[in-house]
Amino acid sequence: MKVSRRGFLQIAGVSVAGQVASGCKVLERGYPEEYSVDKPPVPGTEGWAQGEERLIKSTCMQCEGGCGIIVRVVEGRAVRIKGNPDYPTNQGGLCPKGLNGLQVLYDPDRIEGPLQRVGARGAGNWKRISWDEAIAHVARQLAALRANGESHTLAVLGGRYRGHMRDLVRRFLTAYGSPNDIDHESLCTTGDKVAAFLAQGIRDRLAYDWERTKYVLVFGAGFIESFRPTAMMLRIHGHMRQGVPGQRTKIVQIDPRYGVSAARADEWVQVRPGTDGALALGLAHVLIRDGLVHKKFIRNHTLGFDSWTDSAGRSHMGFEDLVLSNYSPASVAETTGIAAETIERLAHEFAAHQPGVAIVGRGAAAHTNGVYNVLAIHALNALVGSIDVAGGVLVQRQPPFASWPDPELDGVARLGRARPRFDLDGGDAPPFADSQLSTLAERLEWGQPYRLKAVFFYYTNPLFSAPAPDRLRAALERVPLLVSFSPFMDESTAMADFVLPDHTYLERWQLDVISPSVGFPLFSIRQPVVAPLHDTRSTGEALIEIARAIGGTVGRSFPGSELEMIKQLVRGAQESKRGSIRTDDFEEFWKQLLTNGGWWDQPYSFGEWHRVLATPSGKYEFYSTRLDERLRALAAAGREQDPEAAVLVGLAASGRWDEACLPHYEPIRSAQSESEFPFIVASYKTMTHAEGRGANQPHLQEAFGVQFDRSWEPWVEIHPDDAHALGVHDDDEVWLRAPSGQVRVKAVLHDGTHRGTVNVPFEYGHTAYGRWAAGRGENVNPLVRTAQVSLAGGAAWYDARVAISKA
Ligand code: SF4
Repeated sequence: MKVSRRGFLQIAGVSVAGQVASGCKVLERGYPEEYSVDKPPVPGTEGWAQGEERLIKSTCMQCEGGCGIIVRVVEGRAVRIKGNPDYPTNQGGLCPKGLNGLQVLYDPDRIEGPLQRVGARGAGNWKRISWDEAIAHVARQLAALRANGESHTLAVLGGRYRGHMRDLVRRFLTAYGSPNDIDHESLCTTGDKVAAFLAQGIRDRLAYDWERTKYVLVFGAGFIESFRPTAMMLRIHGHMRQGVPGQRTKIVQIDPRYGVSAARADEWVQVRPGTDGALALGLAHVLIRDGLVHKKFIRNHTLGFDSWTDSAGRSHMGFEDLVLSNYSPASVAETTGIAAETIERLAHEFAAHQPGVAIVGRGAAAHTNGVYNVLAIHALNALVGSIDVAGGVLVQRQPPFASWPDPELDGVARLGRARPRFDLDGGDAPPFADSQLSTLAERLEWGQPYRLKAVFFYYTNPLFSAPAPDRLRAALERVPLLVSFSPFMDESTAMADFVLPDHTYLERWQLDVISPSVGFPLFSIRQPVVAPLHDTRSTGEALIEIARAIGGTVGRSFPGSELEMIKQLVRGAQESKRGSIRTDDFEEFWKQLLTNGGWWDQPYSFGEWHRVLATPSGKYEFYSTRLDERLRALAAAGREQDPEAAVLVGLAASGRWDEACLPHYEPIRSAQSESEFPFIVASYKTMTHAEGRGANQPHLQEAFGVQFDRSWEPWVEIHPDDAHALGVHDDDEVWLRAPSGQVRVKAVLHDGTHRGTVNVPFEYGHTAYGRWAAGRGENVNPLVRTAQVSLAGGAAWYDARVAISKA
């Protein structure tokens, strides 16, 4: 089917403003004679009567928010997406990405069936093969690895796992015999999760009771642009302004960049890049010094506020002493560039407007000092007792799913699983990292701890979105088998040997569990709203078929279909007899689940301290005993003369031992010298950014840079004073140069840029990914070869430096 751009937009039938498709207008007017003319053929419409219309509930997947949607389907064609008003997070609203989902479904550049590479890798020559052939090819190569005792050399590089998919992929790897499920989260940020683990024992992001909070300190998060889920944040933002008569929640945006969230906040505080933690500690200083802390919470539920002695008799410095000694407003003003009076005022306002919360995003977390930044910011919540209270920080509760029976493991699987993980083996792995996609290139180059022989790409495109993607491309050449499950020919898929294309999210079954946001348990079902347009299969089903083709214990670990596996999990919620659907009959439960769009168990229960403070001490740990323990273990294993000091040097922690276990400020580290590369380069996400997947959606491209009236091409924001010194004017082309390469991009002079920093929106610079994405600007990621986030690992995105010159 050949579709022009104009024709495609008509098929997609939805704009960012949520316009109704032309077909729907025809329906509303009746049935003119030309009614059936000009409708492109769409598979799966055969069973539909003329004029038949259904509203089908499902779940958005344009980001990890998992908002409830209703898709209007006319004669088997999806013509509009709107928000599900019953769904608790978005309550009928959608963000621009969610409204635009039909452009994912009807993208004319979708991969239409399984492909086998012909000729050189990445040359773009493919042979269309059947699913049977594709499954057989991949299974045969995987079976050969097993036969050689090399099952551990398979790695799945995965991203945007939703609902059951993470467990299904892990099950596949477990039964097959590999420890290597390498999550691309380390390309985004894991610093916030590691900090929540150290302070609260929760290895997840935290949630917030937005509707009741009165004051929000936003550190480096795109509060209404890209915080999760965007649609909910847009609704909450309105609620904070008008939801409670006479009350207006104050939002303070702390960010080096003046973006849309800063523009919509009550106050913008321009912090020096990477010094968010220092600012938080300055605020903590004022709260403690002026007796504005929540004494009862600190006394009953925290460890390490005061100096203390551990069970081994070691005495430790407390947070109070550290903060009062080192972080006076005057010294913090020098570090952060924020006036001491502002620090004093913000601390007093925060204390006076409780419940309030201090929240954190990538802007503060994705620095080398990111974990310490988040610990310092989160400590503000503990100081004012804003943890697990109305209007404060929540810990997301999970739905009561049943579990699958354990997979069957043979000897090969057991041996393979016992091998070290490819991405985490060795002394250089950060102590709290749980995956390291960002360092894959080096490990592949070294061939350590072993050589990978097969790599699967699932919902990740590291050849576009990783730091130094060019280096990763060369390194992946060493891997004999590359398989992609993407519906689109993105950069990583273009390099694959086999493509087993997934359905889009509007064509498949998937369980979806909410990202931490509302606190109470909530899940939805992503049900197909139309028949698959092409010869695609859901990746879950494809993996099950590969497992069966391998046979033996691997195949036996998947006795049912993917949909049966989903239903097995959901049965737990039905049997719990809790929440929004209560029935003894599972089929009735399932029916209601699809009709309602999900299951939820409101409201949130407060005061489950054992659950929300799951640290070894059962308290909020200003002094992290887990970190202390891990550092001691590292020191005990060290051979240096002063192993404790060596551990701190290894972590690039400048503080003394106790300080390393407390929230404190560490200066950021760049891989490039400041004298030669004077500008920090930061990439950021806009509201139309679908986590790096939006560039192939023309409406999102069109609305990409509304703040600068820009679209379809990238830009770099430079402070006018810096631009003047460089002789650069608005719209001039400039080179951003790093040791690893240079990119050419148009300048936008913007006085909301921190001096010495330049900002580039992330999404552009594809060399593949369809007609609307490819060839638009250059990707800045090749410039980002920088240090990792201490303790957590992952890319320290905001610490890379560049030089700028006029092109
Ligand atoms: S916030 Fe995410 S899940 Fe919700 S509508 Fe927007 S893109 Fe979809």
